[in-house]
Amino acid sequence: MADSELARLQRRYRALTEQVRDLGFIATGSVIERYTTCTATGCHCHADPPQRHGPYFQYTRKVRPTQAHLPWVSPRTVDISP
Ligand SMILES: [Zn+2]
Repeated sequence: MADSELARLQRRYRALTEQVRDLGFIATGSVIERYTTCTATGCHCHADPPQRHGPYFQYTRKVRPTQAHLPWVSPRTVDISP
């Protein structure tokens, strides 16, 4: 590899490293927003149009050999700060 190519790649590497650093806190997995229906007769979640319960946020990450889920939580109890 030519010195100029190596220097270019090193500059690119440093620039990307700084961008990743600026992202802040990163966690493995994903957070999905869910709306649900319940089993209560006459509940607004069964209305037309339905007004489902939620949002509830579910954090999922892969843990061998299956997915691991944290329980559904209300947005008021979610703290994703680092
Ligand atoms: Zn309901």
